[in-house]
Amino acid sequence: LSRLRRTEPSVRSFIHVADADAEREAEELDRRIASEGQDAVGPLAGVLVGVKDNLCTANMPSTGGSRILDGYRPAYDATAVRRLREAGAIVVGKTNLDEFGMGSTTEGSGFQVTTNPWDDSRVPGGSSGGSASSVSARQCVVSLGSDTGGSVRQPASFCGVVGLKPTYGRVSRFGLMAYASSLDVVGCFGSSVVDTATILSVIAGHDKMDSTSSSHDVRDYKSELVPLDLLESKPLNGMRIGIIQETLGEGVETGVISSIRTAASHLEQLGSVVEEVSLPSFSLGLPAYYILASSEASSNLSRYDGIRYGRQVSADDFNELYGGSRANGLGHEVKMRILMGTYALSAGYYDAYYKRAQQVRTLVKKSFQEALERYDILISPAAPSAAYKIGEKINDPLAMYAGDIMTVNVNLAGLPALVVPCGFVDGGSAGLPVGLQMIGSPFSEGNLLRAGHIFE
Ligand code: GLN
Repeated sequence: LSRLRRTEPSVRSFIHVADADAEREAEELDRRIASEGQDAVGPLAGVLVGVKDNLCTANMPSTGGSRILDGYRPAYDATAVRRLREAGAIVVGKTNLDEFGMGSTTEGSGFQVTTNPWDDSRVPGGSSGGSASSVSARQCVVSLGSDTGGSVRQPASFCGVVGLKPTYGRVSRFGLMAYASSLDVVGCFGSSVVDTATILSVIAGHDKMDSTSSSHDVRDYKSELVPLDLLESKPLNGMRIGIIQETLGEGVETGVISSIRTAASHLEQLGSVVEEVSLPSFSLGLPAYYILASSEASSNLSRYDGIRYGRQVSADDFNELYGGSRANGLGHEVKMRILMGTYALSAGYYDAYYKRAQQVRTLVKKSFQEALERYDILISPAAPSAAYKIGEKINDPLAMYAGDIMTVNVNLAGLPALVVPCGFVDGGSAGLPVGLQMIGSPFSEGNLLRAGHIFE
């Protein structure tokens, strides 16, 4: 907690810090342990977690990074948050994000700009930038994020931490503010694969409050990791790994490419077979994603009308109330996405945009399925570059969207993907971290964590 207090003025990971409450909860846990023993408290007793502010938390503000929800306090915890709390974890605050998850730098927050702990002139990535920076700066042990098109994986890469995007449906979305419901997943960050595996076992599983959550069995992911002192025994023997060719070409920083190649040879040394694989539909994913995500957002965000939640404006009539709330409460990027999505869904354009994008989604899904019949894991960079400067891309939405090329396909296909730090490129005073993305078949999180563990 003292580290959080010391670092927060420069990192600004949190929209809301609950350090005093956290301290009280921790003291209460200490008292229970002293009187009733360690078994009286949960397995995560006292573990500080940061929670992305688009996940509802009872008794704490939940804004989604948007001014339109200023002052909103939900009456309930998101399921992932509730499960962490039931295991004894302490929510230490709500982390900053691009408004409603729309962005890749966290500069799109309605509240503040978060900095990258490796270099405070750079972005932490986004949209879960606060969740990534809080773990990277060791302000908390683990954190929750959400990933619609890369929002856990890209900031994990920029901040040099582990980030997991689970299979669609692996973790309940109950209490997650919807951005694009067919793509959204709750994910997690840790400073190690061990921590990430531990958290996944707690938050995963079926939830009757989310009909899209899966009842596929939840494993004890941590106990299935190969101990690091057994690495000599070639623990990846028999594993087949494909490097996605299309992700190591034009537009990707050379330092990123060489870090990924070094990581691939490391995987090979530990027993796996590594080959290059081509996914020809790879580059189609980005435009399809932005059509589909904006379309779903335009529908999901219609609930923010200034009546049911958050900030109220005074108005004489209905249109003035809606118009005034949205004009003042929503930021530029969110308005642009709503307009884009409404356009793509309008009668005259539906076939040309939304329907085409759905067809591309099917194509992307099929090409991943085929590749994952031949390979256990597909690898790529998590982002085409390391963290860039604050302000560098904020006025160039297309350049910002292009940075999501490595991650969006995985959401279109609903697959799990793990990002682990695997190298550095020049920049800042100590270099800037690079993340390796490992993609697997649905519900193969255990396998991804086992492979990722060798990088620790
Ligand atoms: N950067 C992407 C977007 O703006 C992904 C965001 C996310 O995963 N929430 O849509």
